[in-house]
Amino acid sequence: MPILSRDEAVTRAATITVTGYEIDLDLTTGAETFRSRTTVRFSAQPGATTFVEVEPATLGSARLNGTPLPADALVEHRLTLTGLVADNELVVEADMAYSNTGEGLHRFVDPADGNVYLYAHSFLDAARRIFACFDQPDLKAPVRLSVTAPEDWLVAANGMPAGKPSGGRHEFAPTPPMSTYLVSLIAGPYHARTAEHDGIPLAIYCRQSLAEHLDADADELFTVTRQCLDRYHEMFDVRYPYGHYQQAFVPEFNAGAMENPGLVTFRDEFVFRSAVTESERELRAVVVAHEMAHMWFGDLVTMKWWDDLWLNESFADYLGVRVAGDATRFHGTWTTFAMGDKAWGLRADQRPSTHPVAPVEVADTAMALLNFDGISYAKGAAVLKQLVAWVGEKPFLAGLNAHFAAHAYGNATLADLLAALSEASGRDLSGWADVWLRRAQVNTLRAEVECDPDGRYTAVALAQTATPDHPTLRPHRLGVGLYDLTADAAVLRRRIELDLDPATDGGRTPVPELTGAAAPDLLLVNDGDLTYAKIRLDAASAAALPKVLPAIGDPLARAVLWAAVLDTVVDAERPVAELVALVLAALPVETEVIIVEHVLRTTRTLVDRYAVAEARPAALDLLAQACDRMLGAADPGSSGQLAAARGLIGATSDTARLRGWLAGDGVPAGLAIDADLRWLIRYRQAVLGDAGADDIETELAGDRSATGEQWAARCHAARPDPDAKARAWATLIGDTSVSNRLVESAAAGFWQREQLALTESYVQRYFAEMPEMAKVRPGQVAEQVAILAYPTVAAAPRIRELAADLLATADLPAVLRRAVMDCDDDVRRALAAGR
Ligand SMILES: [Zn+2]
Repeated sequence: MPILSRDEAVTRAATITVTGYEIDLDLTTGAETFRSRTTVRFSAQPGATTFVEVEPATLGSARLNGTPLPADALVEHRLTLTGLVADNELVVEADMAYSNTGEGLHRFVDPADGNVYLYAHSFLDAARRIFACFDQPDLKAPVRLSVTAPEDWLVAANGMPAGKPSGGRHEFAPTPPMSTYLVSLIAGPYHARTAEHDGIPLAIYCRQSLAEHLDADADELFTVTRQCLDRYHEMFDVRYPYGHYQQAFVPEFNAGAMENPGLVTFRDEFVFRSAVTESERELRAVVVAHEMAHMWFGDLVTMKWWDDLWLNESFADYLGVRVAGDATRFHGTWTTFAMGDKAWGLRADQRPSTHPVAPVEVADTAMALLNFDGISYAKGAAVLKQLVAWVGEKPFLAGLNAHFAAHAYGNATLADLLAALSEASGRDLSGWADVWLRRAQVNTLRAEVECDPDGRYTAVALAQTATPDHPTLRPHRLGVGLYDLTADAAVLRRRIELDLDPATDGGRTPVPELTGAAAPDLLLVNDGDLTYAKIRLDAASAAALPKVLPAIGDPLARAVLWAAVLDTVVDAERPVAELVALVLAALPVETEVIIVEHVLRTTRTLVDRYAVAEARPAALDLLAQACDRMLGAADPGSSGQLAAARGLIGATSDTARLRGWLAGDGVPAGLAIDADLRWLIRYRQAVLGDAGADDIETELAGDRSATGEQWAARCHAARPDPDAKARAWATLIGDTSVSNRLVESAAAGFWQREQLALTESYVQRYFAEMPEMAKVRPGQVAEQVAILAYPTVAAAPRIRELAADLLATADLPAVLRRAVMDCDDDVRRALAAGR
């Protein structure tokens, strides 16, 4: 399959200008295919040749300016167009295949009731599976969609409805100019709730089988939507430009959500059918705010090519966290960001596959897909937070508004944005952009202190270092906090803000303000979390952590500290046993649920990866003890109780207790053992060999939902049974008849630290069989499977050798190459930690 290259896109953009799409879809032609008729109007240099993307099951006809194109004009998914005139009309009629991979027009049959649901996902280069298109971000055009569907179906699209549907026929008004990767629709017996705000019609949609759960949260969703819309309207001069604001929760969605203008699609796990924690509600609100930010960053002003992906994702991530935190009831979003998102960015940034936030050139769409990672999202957002700290709030917003004004409905580049920000701030940002946006990897900031015998600082400095292969030092604006331990708290005595400038201080910045000050119990570098860096404490502060950390009142400061601690364990500077001890000492009194969840999850993963076999049971036991203490202290029905219960289930080996909880015995008061918690217990039982195939099928019989089927697939894969492993492996490697989500469920359950002897032969098979897997599955799914099915928990030198051999192979699919490089890095770290 040809992959669109940057060069081809540049040439095509210079050759043609698209003036409009009319897309007519007939969704009544059976379960395998739908009919698609596209009329594209575009101007061109007379005599020029170009191509349009279309990937039909069967091509009916293609007529350029009234003349049928020859049968051989379509090669793979490119239709060559020759003899162009100044103004052209291309009409393509085709039967297109529905997908079960979350790309193109995804078709889903709900196991709960047999209803059929469709949604379109055109990202990143799947629009051609729905309509004929010049599929690159900078060929924007209005889109007018018409759809024929079964009469009882709801159909919604980017554009506003043009009149009421009649006889299953739905017409939509033309959209403002938009990129093809953003074209979307949903069709099926979707459940709808509607509202209105500030003249903007609002709607939320989900499957019928989730209707009661969406209804239960409709007020929260609409409230968050209204609050975020208002805040963006306060910040931006341009009003929301796409008429209505619809949010559809759709099944088996590959990403968290997608910013299609006028019709945002979300994974429908965001419609909560079981109890969730406040941090999960917060995440949903942040995703709502993130996608809404894209209406300006991404949709109204679109990157010219995928190398400026960060202009979409970094801004949406930054604004999503900021706006959700400012405008909604979820005020702790920056704590969540410091705890989880930044860890994601830091991990990605320290891998062999690291890349700049804004790469100079991304060669093609396959490479572009790889950059939807922790760097483009989380690091980019952290860098923007640093930029705001550096240039100030007002100039930042003024620059953004100038950027929108200059490029509305068009495309822009890094240079365009920098020009607007430099103009607004009166500062030349080119040097800043070079080190922060154009160069990969992260700096380490370390506190260096000296004290006199009375415990007063005689010298304090911040040392900045970089890795040998990415030796860039950067300017940082950051806070430093002095915390003193009193009888019942660790009190912030003083916080100073300072600038590190390697151009003048050579990477070691003295802090003379602190000379003579009494040394605090804890000196916190990056207090307030303004900058993006790895943080290392001075020795005295590090030693005081078990006492000071739980006593600090500011959750953001605790998050910065926990993140630094986890990072030292990931780097094998601190043994995982020490981390477990700190968890036991400090986590039971933690009040911030996101900290509890993130620390438990990360520690659990590190125990599986880093702990030697003899030490692992004791580590898990201590984790379970920590969770038990939290359970004992948690309010009935609280988020903290649920987080502790999940942590306990994941760590415990007490099968009698798990069985008891399923039967309703010994359940903490207020804890609902609902559908998803039951499945979590079943999963742990399956891993421990305490749930057989029959138990899983019985559980499924009581929960005939899509989520139930996914859990069952994961549980079956997790059983210590050779036949179950063989079936799961066959599914994840090559079964294309089941959907993306079921394939991923099998992959997620497969490897268990308890079962390494049983799964030993699959280590070799991974490296032998994954290239074929990556050929039969589309990019996003292949990437997920390659990561989930990697034998990371089996860490051994042999696995690194196999990885090196595979990476030395030519023509490895790009997503597989990236997955193996990254997972191999995890194995390298595990071995460095003593495995
Ligand atoms: Zn996004």
